[in-house]
Amino acid sequence: MANTTPDRDRIAMLSGALDRAYGPAAVSAPVEIVRAPGWVNLIGDHLDYNEGFMLPVAIEMDTWIAFRRRRDGRVRVVSRHSPEAGSFQIDGVEPARDGGAGRWSDYVAGMAWSLRKAAIPIYGFDGVVDTTIPLGSGLSASAALELASALALLDGSRVMAPPSLAALAQRAEREFVGLDCGIVDQLASAAGREGKAMLLDCRSLDTRQVALPFGVRVVICDTGEKPERRASAHNARRAECARAVALLAERMPGLCSLRDLDAGSLRRYRAILPENVAARAEHVVSENGRVLAAATALEAGDLDELSRIFAQSHASSRDLYAISSPALDTMVEIARSIPGVVAARMTGLGFGGCTVNLVLADAVPALKVAVGREYDRRTGLRGRVYPVAIVDGAGPIATD
Ligand code: ADP
Ligand code: MG
Repeated sequence: MANTTPDRDRIAMLSGALDRAYGPAAVSAPVEIVRAPGWVNLIGDHLDYNEGFMLPVAIEMDTWIAFRRRRDGRVRVVSRHSPEAGSFQIDGVEPARDGGAGRWSDYVAGMAWSLRKAAIPIYGFDGVVDTTIPLGSGLSASAALELASALALLDGSRVMAPPSLAALAQRAEREFVGLDCGIVDQLASAAGREGKAMLLDCRSLDTRQVALPFGVRVVICDTGEKPERRASAHNARRAECARAVALLAERMPGLCSLRDLDAGSLRRYRAILPENVAARAEHVVSENGRVLAAATALEAGDLDELSRIFAQSHASSRDLYAISSPALDTMVEIARSIPGVVAARMTGLGFGGCTVNLVLADAVPALKVAVGREYDRRTGLRGRVYPVAIVDGAGPIATD
């Protein structure tokens, strides 16, 4: 869907950057622009690999690629956020055997590789990449770059269905870039809907749109804490969840995912699990219920219930799943002290990164002031507050 209120300044800036990078327009190659948004999860983190539910929203922070089509199958890309340029021939692109050099343009090349593996026709371009998503904060600058790249590589008149595109982008990140990721990053960026959260069943990949209550804004607070322990902790949680399933399956034949465990069965067999494994399973089972309850409360506009659900989710993420940090806890505590902040919790994989808040529109300035005044002083970090509109998924930008 074309963006109906294109940002003229950004279009002009990127068109100028394109000319500076590659020289003035070649004949008959107009500037085209595509965009893909970042996303944030309202609730249900770490449930993707447990085949549970999540509730993502696509956000206004996004990645744009301005490009001119080339006829020779070559892709050249520059980014406003990296000095290093990328260049490859689309029919020769292959994953590096040694894991690669970790170049940002690998996300673009990976997308070309993944589309070609699926036998989908793609085309070369000269492009300039620009993003308003803070890189590496868990708002998925990587998925947005993949999706925007896909749209630039594809023939704009025959763009694929968002879930198929998301699956190919996930494959690019996993098999070409070499980062194990669930599909929610790409699905939220590809298939988000303006003003709606997406209730995603991570087993079937079915989605249901959930409207947010009128007057409630999504506000992301970035703790400024770089999540250094995240990758190893993420692997540890996955292993603990797999262990829970393996041990419980001895008593519950056929159990293959924590998605299918209920609170009663967990209570009955809890003693056979090591304490940390039992705690992880308890978080997953209860969080799954909270995601569904949050979707219902959003639809009903039940703000008190949302407040309770987010508070329980944060406490469970901190105490049972052990993925919070003092910075995340402080950010949530400050937000909760502001009248008009309906609900606050950590979001994403944890150990730093961001919190997500549901805030009455009038209260956003007070939240900004409180974070500016208290958070930095209490943590020694630099906190940031981003009120974000919920937008449509990836698509072209109308340039005329
Ligand atoms: P996240 O997806 O949470 O932002 P990742 O580490 O998965 O964090 O992705 C960030 C990486 O994606 C960057 O380090 C960079 O390699 C690449 N990237 C994404 N967008 C851009 C961009 N506009 N310019 C350059 N690199 C980008
Ligand atoms: Mg990423």
